[in-house]
Amino acid sequence: MKMKIYIIGIGLIGGSFAMEMRKLFPNSAIIGIDKSENNINKAYELGIIDKKSCLSEISDADIILVSVPVKSIINLLPNILDKVNKNSLVIDFGSTKNSICDVIKDHPNRENFLATHPIAGTEFSGPTAAHKGLFANKNIIICDKHRTNQSRLEIALKIFKSMKMKVSYMNPDSHDKHIAYVSHLSHLSSFMLGKTVMDEEKNEKNIFDMAGSGFESTVRLAKSSPEMWTDIFEDNKENIIKSLDDYIENLIQINNLIKDDRFNEIELQLKSTNYIKTILKGIN
Ligand code: NAP
Repeated sequence: MKMKIYIIGIGLIGGSFAMEMRKLFPNSAIIGIDKSENNINKAYELGIIDKKSCLSEISDADIILVSVPVKSIINLLPNILDKVNKNSLVIDFGSTKNSICDVIKDHPNRENFLATHPIAGTEFSGPTAAHKGLFANKNIIICDKHRTNQSRLEIALKIFKSMKMKVSYMNPDSHDKHIAYVSHLSHLSSFMLGKTVMDEEKNEKNIFDMAGSGFESTVRLAKSSPEMWTDIFEDNKENIIKSLDDYIENLIQINNLIKDDRFNEIELQLKSTNYIKTILKGIN
C-alpha cells in the first residue's frame, strides 16, 4: 500500500513507530514534522523519514502519528483535526489520556482520531534513541474506541497487531488513575531517589565508586527527559498527588518501624512485597 504517513514529533517514540511503518508499508512516504531542527535533520540523515514538512501540509495524510509531549499534543490536536481529510487516521501516543480526549471531544472530525498509549519506551530521547522492535510484545491501551470511526479503528488495530502489540481498552479516567501508580510514580520516585543521593554525596566520585547495579537500576528512570515528564506530572496532577501520598505514607511507616526497632514487622512486609516477582512474571 502506498500511503502518506506523517509523524509529528520524530523522537524516540515517533522515530521507532516510523521505522516499523517503513517495514510494514515499504512503498509509503514517511514525512516528519518537529519543532527541533536538530532532531528532524537527524531523523532525515538516519533515513527514518523521507521528507521534512510542516503542519500546514498534512491535509493529504493517510495516517498521522502525534508523538510530541502531552501538553503539545493538547495544544496541537484541535488544529491537526481541523486540517485532516475525511479518510485520515490520526493517532496519539501521549502518556496521559484524559485532557487529550477532552480537548477534541466535540471536534467535528473526532471520529478520525484514536487515543492510545503504548506501554513501551526507554529513558532516552530523540531520533537517535529510536529503534526497531520497541513496540513488540508491549501493551497498547486504547481509550474511547467507540468515538473512532470503525474503519479507522480497524486500520489502527491491524497496524498495532502487525507490530506484535497487545491491545487493551480503558476509559481515559481509569487510564490516568492507574498509570499514575505503575508509571508516573516510578519516574517521580526515581528522580527523587537520584536527587536525595546526589544532595547527600556532593562529591560525585563517591557515588560512582559505591553505586552497585541496584542503585543503577532504581535511578535509571531519572535519566528520562525532564521536559516530557514535567508535562506528564502537570497533566496528571491529581492522580499523581494521590499515588505520591500513598507512597509517602508507606515511607513514613517504614521509617517509624526502623526507629522503633520493629524489624520482624519490616521483614514480614518485605516478604509480602516479594509477591511483586510473581506479578511481574505474569506480565512479561
Ligand atoms: P522525545 O524523544 O523527546 O521526542 C519528542 C519530539 O517532539 C522532540 O523532537 C521534540 O522537540 C518534539 N516536539 C516537542 N514539542 C513539539 C511541538 N509542539 N511541535 C513539534 N514537535 C515538538 O519524546 P518521546 O519519548 O518520543 O515521547 C513522545 C510522546 O510519547 C510523549 O507524549 C510521551 O508522553 C509519549 N510516550 C513516551 C514514552 C517513553 O517512554 N518515552 C512511552 C510511551 C509514550 P524538542 O526536543 O525540541 O522538545
